[in-house]
Amino acid sequence: MFSVITHSPEETWELARKLAPILSSGDVINLSGDLGAGKTVFSKGLAVGLGIDEPVTSPTFTLIKEYMGRLPLYHFDVYRLSSPEEMEELGFDEYFYGDGVSVVEWGDKIEELLPDVRLDIRLLRLVDDEFRRIEVTPQGDVWQEKVDQWLVRE
Ligand code: ADP
Ligand code: MG
Repeated sequence: MFSVITHSPEETWELARKLAPILSSGDVINLSGDLGAGKTVFSKGLAVGLGIDEPVTSPTFTLIKEYMGRLPLYHFDVYRLSSPEEMEELGFDEYFYGDGVSVVEWGDKIEELLPDVRLDIRLLRLVDDEFRRIEVTPQGDVWQEKVDQWLVRE
């Protein structure tokens, strides 16, 4: 597990933006952390890094929103998901195993549906209002390598 502290929303956004160039088709990122932790801020930075100019907002009521950049971005927010069947109805595996990058806010809620190979990112509020600890756990060798490029070698 890698841990990064950010001191402002801009820093979290920037950290996410720098992850984008390393991403490839079929990548799945599980974002977890409480309400207001910064999952959407992170998703926005990632979108800009993928060359998406459309504004990204939390797809709380639609569960998923699709954007087109260097790669397609499938932005999920499964906070309001009532059952795993709802994910089946969405055809979630077409996204997770598709051509784009899937980013799943509250992904822990559907952990059993997530691919085993994925990047887990947990955002935690610290005592100071604008401080967050971002815990990054690569699941699978390919993610170990990507995280190394993202956080270690930079
Ligand atoms: P979530 O999607 O996890 O519910 P949001 O990204 O919508 O959270 O909101 C995070 C809120 O916290 C925003 O209002 C943002 O400005 C604020 N914030 C303060 N410090 C940080 C930080 N270091 N990283 C990310 N967001 C931060
Ligand atoms: Mg959100």
